[in-house]
Amino acid sequence: MRRTIFQSEHEDFREAVRGFLAREAAPFAQQWEAAGIVDRAFWKRAAAQGMVAFAAPEELGGAGLRDFRFNAVLDEEVVATGSVGDGFSLTNDIVAPYLIDRASPAQQRRWLPPLASGDAVAAIAMSEPGAGSDLRGIKASARWRGDHYELSGAKTFVTSGIQADVVIVAARIEREGVDGLGLFLVDASLDGFARGRKLQKLGRMAQDTAELFMERVVLGPDDLIGAEGEGLRLLMSNLPQERLSIAVTAVASAERALLITREYVGQRNAFGRAIGSFQTIRFALASLTTEVRAARAYLDGCILGHVHGELDAAEAAGLKCLATELEFRTIDRCLQLHGGYGYMEEYPIARMWRDSRVQRIYGGANEIMLEIVGRSLGL
Ligand SMILES: Cc1cc2nc3c(=O)[nH]c(=O)nc-3n(C[C@H](O)[C@H](O)[C@H](O)COP(=O)(O)OP(=O)(O)OC[C@H]3O[C@@H](n4cnc5c(N)ncnc54)[C@H](O)[C@@H]3O)c2cc1C
Repeated sequence: MRRTIFQSEHEDFREAVRGFLAREAAPFAQQWEAAGIVDRAFWKRAAAQGMVAFAAPEELGGAGLRDFRFNAVLDEEVVATGSVGDGFSLTNDIVAPYLIDRASPAQQRRWLPPLASGDAVAAIAMSEPGAGSDLRGIKASARWRGDHYELSGAKTFVTSGIQADVVIVAARIEREGVDGLGLFLVDASLDGFARGRKLQKLGRMAQDTAELFMERVVLGPDDLIGAEGEGLRLLMSNLPQERLSIAVTAVASAERALLITREYVGQRNAFGRAIGSFQTIRFALASLTTEVRAARAYLDGCILGHVHGELDAAEAAGLKCLATELEFRTIDRCLQLHGGYGYMEEYPIARMWRDSRVQRIYGGANEIMLEIVGRSLGL
């Protein structure tokens, strides 16, 4: 079925992004995977093309494109290119909304222009060594000292943690009369802020992921996004877009895997014929193709719903779970159909298999997604 959610401006954006990534990213993917980090110069070039924080107002360096369909186009094209890390989805889909929708005018003036120009890289640090799914278990604390906060604690699994210049840190507010989390915009050059190891991962190799440590980092009241104790509510209100973004990548990855595999089974011979002509293989691909088409139709409906402000937390959570489980099942089967070659680095399906595994874990593990859906059913 022809997709109907995009208009000509989205298609023009897709053309521009596709050309840019083919020129500036695809040839370097292996190099970045080996280095475990995407080159900062690439990021600046992408920003110069209007691909970073484009939803920010024009006077703050963006293009005022507040339409998630542009985000979706970019996420899909990143999948088509191969390995560019997670910088685009992290910045545009996850971090920028806090600055655009929740930050004060002073915070926006400070951080949006460098973000949109690629001069500053941003990250978000919720997870801790002892708290991931259960954000109420966050131990990092921001103690009020009369005229400033002192932020202390450890964060882990922080995407772009090695490169980040500014990190949105979730911490428990320690101040009389306040109970709950705060979200702080933390300048990574402050005293007391330290980076730990670049974590060695199973996949998504081009993306740096790090531990972060904060020891009595001095923050002003102006570094707090929103109100004291409001952190969890802010996180909950932005997580549906994060989950939608993961689903966009998941369905695009499943589609790509099927495309690659159809070509492979059409030219690989065994027992005197193309393996794609064996009924068992044809049926496997036919059935996965149908499931992915159904997921695509549902996802496109959710993208449009989100553009109209109608995607709720439970639907986003269920979509994330469905799309990422299907992504992994599809890619795993596609790898199997490549035989031994599927296990070899030079075949893209091998990298796709590694990269897809984490999709069921981050952005909220899929078990938690089902909890959210279950609660919405009154169970
Ligand atoms: C590559 C990568 C990048 C990441 N990037 C970021 C980032 O940029 N910022 C950030 O803050 N975090 C990031 N994360 C962290 C990620 O969001 C967490 O790993 C995830 O939320 C799960 O938390 P956990 O690892 O502590 O697992 P746990 O919470 O310990 O869960 C372990 C298992 O128990 C299950 N479980 C937990 N509670 C329940 C329950 N009530 N019912 C049933 N099952 C349950 C989980 O589903 C999971 O299967 C990243 C993680 C990875 C791997």
